[in-house]
Amino acid sequence: MITNSTELSTYSQNYKTLSNLEQEHGSSFYLLDIDRLQMNYKKMETAFKSRYEKFIIGYSYKTNYIPYLCKELDKLGAYAEVVSKLEYDLALKIGVVPTKIIFNGPLKTKYDIETALNMGSILNIDSTYEMKYVKEHCLQNPDTSFKVGFRVNFDISTNGVSPLVEGFEKSRFGMCVENGSFQLVWKQLKELPNLKITGLHGHFSTANRSVSTFEKITQSLCDIVKEYKLTDLEYIDIGGGIFGEVPRSLISNTPTFDDYGEAVCKIMNKEFGDKKEKPYLILEPGISMVANTFQFVAKVVETKNIRNETFVLVDGSVHNIKPTMHKKNLPMRVIRSSVDDGSNRSDTYHIVGYTCLEKDYLACDVKSQMPLIGDFIIFENVGAYTLVFNPPFIKERPAVVAFYDGKTTIARKKESFKEFFNDKLYQF
Ligand SMILES: *Cc1c(COP(=O)(O)O)cnc(C)c1O
Repeated sequence: MITNSTELSTYSQNYKTLSNLEQEHGSSFYLLDIDRLQMNYKKMETAFKSRYEKFIIGYSYKTNYIPYLCKELDKLGAYAEVVSKLEYDLALKIGVVPTKIIFNGPLKTKYDIETALNMGSILNIDSTYEMKYVKEHCLQNPDTSFKVGFRVNFDISTNGVSPLVEGFEKSRFGMCVENGSFQLVWKQLKELPNLKITGLHGHFSTANRSVSTFEKITQSLCDIVKEYKLTDLEYIDIGGGIFGEVPRSLISNTPTFDDYGEAVCKIMNKEFGDKKEKPYLILEPGISMVANTFQFVAKVVETKNIRNETFVLVDGSVHNIKPTMHKKNLPMRVIRSSVDDGSNRSDTYHIVGYTCLEKDYLACDVKSQMPLIGDFIIFENVGAYTLVFNPPFIKERPAVVAFYDGKTTIARKKESFKEFFNDKLYQF
């Protein structure tokens, strides 16, 4: 479909356009903003690359692996950061070259490890059991040379306070540096003549995503490189977990890409500035790359009053926009079917969903002119951990429509009964 607007926000502001999309895709669907995605990518790349040239963005597939999105990121130059064979195979299917796939994650089979080693993908092993597979494979193929990286785990707390999400004291990922687990694996693998230890990986999910945490991660990784004399080092991978451009209504005063870039690259330059062969710096953004590139559009089906509370029922569910069910209202817009002065109507309302769960609130205590039946509500910032977590619960999955330069493309069709209850999978 060709339209006159080149910006998604202007485009989706028009009731008629949403109506047309509804004809094709049903009364709820996602919109993917490709211009926004490109902007995020460029901004992030510039923030780091302008300060440290050898910089790689490895997009975290698990955050949102709509193939159309992953392919767009591949075109922009991103590596694919995957944490399962499923994601690895997706990267291959959309045409990512194997050497641009970063294979992380706590669970890898012998087959996964062999594939990654043979294909020359960036493989970061997470635990000791993976070492066994690597070792076996190297010994069985003595004439081929392979590369491996380690996900390491070290204390990142400050004054005894852990910055990890949900108050976790210790991360469960990677190999512990302090207790010698990492050292044990390193010792065994460095003896293999056809294996090079080429990288270190440190990803931590922290609650406040602070710049100082990233300084700590970067510095600790550099210190391990020096302590263990990793002379074949090709990359330092500081993981993901930075803030993107977050709407003020959700959190204010978050660091910018430049703030992170400045802090991290300063350390990289200090550590490697005088080296002829500098290692790559890898960042694995998820949320920060895609959260603000998706919107969810849902039509108002009913408005009702129950003992003085007003409920606006939409063809959507909290699962579509915030599967973690956090309490904050997302930024949203009401696209009205008709001009209406809104007088004599409640101006505080809840937006509730189609499921039979009492807690299915898409937004609570919204204070604005109440929507009417037939209006559309657009929820913004729904790109991260929504479509991938979105259980096909009670209804089929909605469509995803990509918008770029005034044109729309179907990135995913609305799921049908046949696809939902696949004959090949289920016994009827
Ligand atoms: C989830 C994850 C990311 C992305 O994290 P965000 O907080 O979404 O940026 C990056 N790397 C690894 C290893 C992950 O597990």
